[in-house]
Amino acid sequence: MNHHSGSCLCGAVSYELLGDFQSFFLCHCTRCQKGTGSAHAANLFAADSRLTWLRGESDIKTYQYPDSLHIKSFCQHCGAALPVLIESINSVVVPAGSLDTPVPIPPTAKIYVADGAPWFKNIDDVPSFDELPTRGD
Ligand SMILES: [Zn+2]
Ligand SMILES: [Zn+2]
Repeated sequence: MNHHSGSCLCGAVSYELLGDFQSFFLCHCTRCQKGTGSAHAANLFAADSRLTWLRGESDIKTYQYPDSLHIKSFCQHCGAALPVLIESINSVVVPAGSLDTPVPIPPTAKIYVADGAPWFKNIDDVPSFDELPTRGD
């Protein structure tokens, strides 16, 4: 079993995970679009793992979409996504962007692509920059 660690954007919350990731899903469903404000969520799944809060446990809020496995924990100060234990599948779901240690596996699959945001369909040709471009670029 490996140690992974992560934190929220403002630093109020940090955690450690002891375990291994079996899958890494990029979820394009409409709930994840709402929850992230973006095209998809990026969540790693670690069955039989142990999640320990190192700091800020009392700053964590959790939202569950009614009658679903869509559960999101987040920092009440900065809103950053944080890991959550989903007991019904005995797995800790870890938002990839919350990790401070390297993400150890590549994405397993894109899921719910039929519900994906139309604006995200053909983005390979969109100009790319290493920083926010200056006006006129
Ligand atoms: Zn925070
Ligand atoms: Zn989703």
